[in-house]
Amino acid sequence: MADLQELYQTIIMDHNKRPRHYGVLADFTHRAEGYNPICGDKLEIRLKLSGEQIEAIQFEAACCAICKASASMMTQALTGAELKAVDETRGQVDAYLQGALPDPDADDELAALSGVSQFPARIKCAQLPWQTLDKALRPKESSSEN
Ligand code: ZN
Repeated sequence: MADLQELYQTIIMDHNKRPRHYGVLADFTHRAEGYNPICGDKLEIRLKLSGEQIEAIQFEAACCAICKASASMMTQALTGAELKAVDETRGQVDAYLQGALPDPDADDELAALSGVSQFPARIKCAQLPWQTLDKALRPKESSSEN
């Protein structure tokens, strides 16, 4: 288990250092900004939808390592994905953040987020990119939800 935690930490540090799909996406159809006042994380997500498919997704952020790594992994996981896969992927991430143990055979970098479950104060940092994506995709619903 210690080795696994080490591996997760390495994955998160790598995404923090070399975030994937980082930068402003000029040609976008949806965008949203997210802010986590507890940590001070800020990020902006832009994506281009083509029908029901996420053709491109990029982010920019001024945030902590966990938030940046989570955003980087999110853009990596969702580039080229069908819209209907978004909720499922987010559900998986939420389960990891609540401490669900990854399938050891799954080749899934998102599983590294399960390490965050041991640091409850950082869970919001990891969730911010996903909440912001939700806001970008469903602006009306998220402003009226409670
Ligand atoms: Zn943070």
